[in-house]
Amino acid sequence: MIKVEEKLFQNRYRVDAGRPHISIVDASVCQHDCPTKQCTVCCPAACYTREGDGRVTLITDGCLECGTCRVICTDHRNVAWEYPRGGYGILFKFG
Ligand code: SF4
Ligand code: SF4
Repeated sequence: MIKVEEKLFQNRYRVDAGRPHISIVDASVCQHDCPTKQCTVCCPAACYTREGDGRVTLITDGCLECGTCRVICTDHRNVAWEYPRGGYGILFKFG
């Protein structure tokens, strides 16, 4: 059986340098007001990382544009989300 990691490896990602298409609106909300930090466990591409001091960092390289982080942050509405510009972002199913 093919593992999820192997299937993800077949995708390609074109980075739009300096223009991430998703951002955290207020980092202090993540750090102080969101104890569960569900984005850090629900993102299938592991774009969100829970840091030791409670901060959450976001690196959108490899994002699958699934929209999970936007939906899962409904309590705080702290994710600004849009699709990448044309020609950038995920390219599915190579290899
Ligand atoms: S779920 Fe939303 S508020 Fe909570 S850590 Fe993630 S982005 Fe921040
Ligand atoms: S859209 Fe999906 S893959 Fe992209 S950062 Fe959000 S949860 Fe992760």
